[in-house]
Amino acid sequence: MTPRLSIENLSVTYASARGRLTAVRDLNLQVADGEFVAVLGPSGCGKSTLLNIASGLLKPSSGKVQIQGQPVAGPRRDVGIVFQQPTLLPWKTVLQNVLVPVEAMGLRVEDHMDRARALIRLVRLEGFEGHYPNELSGGMQQRVGIARGFMHDPQLLLMDEPFAALDAMTREHMSDELQDMWRQSGKSVLFITHSIPEAVYLADRVVVLSERPGTVVDVIDVPLPRPRTIATLGSAEFNAICNRLRLFFRTPAPGKGEPE
Ligand code: ADP
Ligand code: MG
Repeated sequence: MTPRLSIENLSVTYASARGRLTAVRDLNLQVADGEFVAVLGPSGCGKSTLLNIASGLLKPSSGKVQIQGQPVAGPRRDVGIVFQQPTLLPWKTVLQNVLVPVEAMGLRVEDHMDRARALIRLVRLEGFEGHYPNELSGGMQQRVGIARGFMHDPQLLLMDEPFAALDAMTREHMSDELQDMWRQSGKSVLFITHSIPEAVYLADRVVVLSERPGTVVDVIDVPLPRPRTIATLGSAEFNAICNRLRLFFRTPAPGKGEPE
């Protein structure tokens, strides 16, 4: 079957006044229909670069990026993106920000009000519909970004460390909501994180990236039963997989980031 997302031999080199910097090198990755794939790697290894490539916002220096067998030429309607920084429009309210994808597609906003409000409830922002981004905490803004990413019901979700700015309790709640939503909808998810437990809790497969230039050093299956719950976190199997992943990040070069 054609994978939902396929990345082949991807390399990305940035050219700036400071010179050339290769962020990603020879990276291969596939996400099947309905699959939840986590990408795990240290800070600065090229994870956001990978997401920007998959979302069509950035062009590869070399390699092939396809969604449903078609080359990615730019942003697509069947893809939802949750950025590492929420990038909300400051002059729009929470409700209006969540509705941005609907507007961008030229659809009738009134037809999507119920869904927008339901998503706002889901990310626990009920009562804040009329607030502006500068009236919200960083974690609240991030949750608006998450609701916005789901708004147009995309088949493929690209999420860049979506829960990194959230407090631990909200983070657990959001992980469970994401898992439920994914299980009910059959969507494909590419979920970027630097948290080992988060990757193992959510994913069917964990793709491990090296330090920059990011390339795949291993792909680990996570055969834990679903739904995963608080009991999963305490299970021997869960911890064995986490420990196996920790080995990849045990001996970082001095001064380089290490996943938690
Ligand atoms: P991660 O998300 O894993 O932390 P990024 O993809 O953001 O990593 O960045 C990978 C590397 O590419 C870093 O060294 C970063 O400084 C560099 N980089 C990212 N974006 C740009 C850019 N627009 N221009 C130049 N260098 C960049
Ligand atoms: Mg990043």
